Amino acid sequence: MSETLRDEVTDLLQRLIRVDTTNPPGNETAAAELLREYLQANGVACDLIAKVPERANLVARIPGGEGPSLLFLSHTDVVLADAGEWSLPPFSGEVRDGEVWGRGALDMKGQVAASAVAIASLAREGFRPSGDLLFAATADEEVGDDFGLSWLCREHPAAVHCDFAINEGGGDRLVLADGTAIYEATAAEKKTAPFRIHVRGRSGHASMPGIADNALVKAARLIERLAAFQPEPQLGPEVEGFLRALLGEVPPPLEAVERTRALSAAAADFVEALLGATFSPTIISASSKRNVIPAVCVIEVDCRLLPGQHPEHIEPLIRAVLGGDIEYELEWLEPEGGTRSPLDTPLWRALEEWVAATEPGARAAPLCGAGFTDSHWLREAFGTVAYGFFPITGDMSPEEAALLVHSADERVPVSDLVLGVDWLRHAARSVLA
Ligand SMILES: [Zn+2]
Repeated sequence: MSETLRDEVTDLLQRLIRVDTTNPPGNETAAAELLREYLQANGVACDLIAKVPERANLVARIPGGEGPSLLFLSHTDVVLADAGEWSLPPFSGEVRDGEVWGRGALDMKGQVAASAVAIASLAREGFRPSGDLLFAATADEEVGDDFGLSWLCREHPAAVHCDFAINEGGGDRLVLADGTAIYEATAAEKKTAPFRIHVRGRSGHASMPGIADNALVKAARLIERLAAFQPEPQLGPEVEGFLRALLGEVPPPLEAVERTRALSAAAADFVEALLGATFSPTIISASSKRNVIPAVCVIEVDCRLLPGQHPEHIEPLIRAVLGGDIEYELEWLEPEGGTRSPLDTPLWRALEEWVAATEPGARAAPLCGAGFTDSHWLREAFGTVAYGFFPITGDMSPEEAALLVHSADERVPVSDLVLGVDWLRHAARSVLA
């Protein structure tokens, strides 16, 4: 990678960080205009598409032939930064010890800058893709009030329609006990399917528990049953691919967790959570007065389903676990996400090639994400093959990076930005050859 691209991506990220796009309110138009100016100067055609003027999405394109299209997907909004917690001002974009500092450096203006530099540098070189190469820097990912990709997919589908997409949500480099490096890429995501359990009893004065029927006490029994529940483990295609990359084969689920743990405790924790639906009771509300026994208790459960599972499939199982001796009502809240992309694709092969070429001996491994990403909108609208992959390498451990996302002193190593540009250029050249 040339020195020019290193300087170019560093400078562009610094300028993006200095544009405060804290969401809410977002004000992403300022970032979209900065990107448009940079891309147009490099001969890439751009459109700003906005539901309201101050929250524009940018979509840029190198038009190609009839072949499949590839989108570099990113978002320009960031979460709130409390300057008092930071060692440097959060919107300084300062470079210190080889790292660019500022809110959004990891989530995800670093990838915005790398995507822009990848498409701009390809345009300068006269790259002629076999299908369109697109770059989208969208608004409002962090809050999701429908100004960004969900809105684009619905109202301007032609602008973002694509066959392949590279998004955030993967790229951690994991080193196993035997020294092998594994690059994780997200190919699917679990469905977030929260629900509430309403337990009813009879109120009464707390000084005489015998006269009442305490809904909180009854709820406690349901919570224990739910917490003890382990669904029958099953292996989805991403976990199978992950195990193949780690172990060279796919053992039965429980043995798989054990053998994975011997190589990496972190990887085993991931795999364990991906063997089935998970249920975490997190919020409970009952009486608001200490001396009143509650007649109603509401338990809120964070539930994540495997891709392809739906509330109506899992509800009978939940009811069986809760039992029939305590009366309750089950209320599903709005479910979200839960889509997957296949792994037998040219984009996955490009990713494997890139990992093997970048770090000899290292392997790419697919994963299913635990939560929602914008990849879902593309998969749902167009059947896009979307992966989350932006490499985070040894300069900053995945644990360290994870702690900095949405937190104080967020920063990204310049070397990772350079790797990111290299990966995206490779993907375009490979998929759109
Ligand atoms: Zn993000």
